[in-house]
Order: sequence, then C-alpha cells, then structure tokens
Amino acid sequence: MDFAQLTRDLEALRSEALAQIVAAPDTAALESLEVEILGKKGRLTGILRGIGALPADDRPRVGAVANTIRQAVEAALRDRSAAVGGAELRARLLTERVDVTTPGRPIARGSLHPSIEAMADIARIFSQFGFVVHESPEVEDDRTNFQMLNIPPDHPARDLWDTLYVDQPGYLLRTHTSPGQIRVMQAMRPPIRALLPGRCFRYEAVDASHGFEFFQVEGLMVDEGTTLGDLKGLLDQFARAMFGANKRTRFRPGYYPFTEPSVAFDVECLVCGGPGCPACGRSGWMTILGAGMVHPVVLRNGGLDPERYQGFAFGMGPERISMLKHGITDLRLFMENDLRFLEQFA
Ligand SMILES: [Zn+2]
Repeated sequence: MDFAQLTRDLEALRSEALAQIVAAPDTAALESLEVEILGKKGRLTGILRGIGALPADDRPRVGAVANTIRQAVEAALRDRSAAVGGAELRARLLTERVDVTTPGRPIARGSLHPSIEAMADIARIFSQFGFVVHESPEVEDDRTNFQMLNIPPDHPARDLWDTLYVDQPGYLLRTHTSPGQIRVMQAMRPPIRALLPGRCFRYEAVDASHGFEFFQVEGLMVDEGTTLGDLKGLLDQFARAMFGANKRTRFRPGYYPFTEPSVAFDVECLVCGGPGCPACGRSGWMTILGAGMVHPVVLRNGGLDPERYQGFAFGMGPERISMLKHGITDLRLFMENDLRFLEQFA
C-alpha cells in the first residue's frame, strides 16, 4: 500500500458515495448510507486502516484528503436529506390531511329517567318550603315498616300491603316509604321537615297501574301547633308548582293506620279541567297523593310527645305524578327501559 494507491481508493470512494447519496430515495436509505460510509466500521475507516503502512511524512496528507472527503460526504447527506425530508413531509401532510367538512360522530346524550326527574321536581318544590331529603333503608324490619306505624301483626290493614319478605326472619322489602317517618323522628328533634324518596316493593301482579317495584316520596312535618290547614296549604302550593297555577284541589276522606284524620288529595283533571272525561273516570278530579295528620301512636313511637307536637305526613308516587303530567297511561313503561319511551324525556 502506497500513498498513490490510498489516494486513488479515497477518490473512488468519494465519487461512488456521492453518486449513491444523490440517488438515495428516502431518509431511511440516507441513514444507512451514512453508517455504511462514515460509520466506525464504514468504508472510509476501512481505507484509512492502511495509513499505518505509509511513511510518516505521507500520513498527514492522506489525513487531509480523507477529511475533505468526509466533509463532502456530510454536505451531500445534508442536502439530500433536506430534499427527501421535504418531499416526505409533503406526502405525509397529504395523506394525513383532516377533512374539516366530514360530519362529526354524534354523541349519545343521556337524560334523567322520568321517575327520577319527577322525584327531583318534587324535591325541588318541597325544598322551597324547607324540606330536606333523608334516606331510609330498602330492607326494613317488620317493626318499623308496620308495627311502629300503628299496624300490629294481625291488623286487617296489612292486607293493603302485600309484602315481599327476605330470608332473615323479621325483615322485609319496605312496602312504603312511611317507615322513614319513624327513623327521622328517632334521629332528630322537631321542627322536622323531611322528604323521603325511595324505592318500594310489593307482592303484586303487574298491570298498567300496579308494579311490584315503584318509587314513593314521603313527606313528614312535625312541629308545635301543626294543623291540617298547614298540610292543605302546602299541598296546594305543591300542586300548583307541579301542574300549573290556578289548579283547583280538594281533600277527600281517606284511611291510613298511621294518620288520623287521613285524606286523599285531588287536583282537578289535567285532561278535561273539571267536566269529566275518561281519564278522570268522569269525576273531574285526579288523586295525586294520600296524606293525613300523624297518628299520636306514631309520634309516641318516634319518641315525641303527642301532647306537645303535631305533624302531618304525605306520600305520593312520582310515576303517578309523571303519568298525570305527561299523559302516560301504563306504569310498566317506567320499568321496561325501552329507549323509545325514555328518549321522549331527553
Ligand atoms: Zn277529566
């Protein structure tokens, strides 16, 4: 190996490398060429390995030539890289272009279930009168569900509530939200203004107006000097807020073991407004809830002195309220989760 041979090899490498770089189609090809030519085990290093066999005087000259080749190759790589890089970027921008005219994917929007919506409406209206929502258990004991509410085990009124019992003796699925009255009275002192919404269960055949599972909203007010007039005034306000101003209302006698006197609360028919139609059974009135003055026995069971405190309670079905409000004729629709029904409330 002599100086001339080495220089010729280097020149051959230069022209071959530059030709390859100019012909490289893309960034990946350029990267592998760079390794192949200038890398630690590359062609330039391979040629320079012969430098050790040269006389000491020739070595710097060969080094200088190698340096210019390295610089030329690096410059060529940079130029070509810029050229193919720009083309690649343009191509990518074209393929990844966002078509802003494409219609968006629709987002399915949920809405409140009509039972929940009705309960929220009821709670909103009564909260304006200071009523606060409380919770009580769905699995209740017989004592609180019946006995404390003035319904002893062999009381004929038990027939009003066909009960679903659980395996644990003495326990059942609450048949109404009224046991919440006892729990609230035991937990706090008057003045009490409690609203008790929740799910109830009865062993009933399911039809258009009965379900084995339904919601109820119970209300309880206890204070000194509470009267039936207070109850009537409050329920009038509720009926007007829920069904519209100027709606006429009335009390009819009713019966519950835990209230005395007991009343049914009617609002004038939302369909015919009074004259009578099939929706109201030709009576001109629709019953929206049951209510009454809390029975002294129930007050005492709640730990309150009936000589000092009086109270009223009311209970309503939010589904019934919703049915009256929206003209829905079948209670089963509330439990079937048919989107065609539910979407109408979106
Ligand atoms: Zn009517």
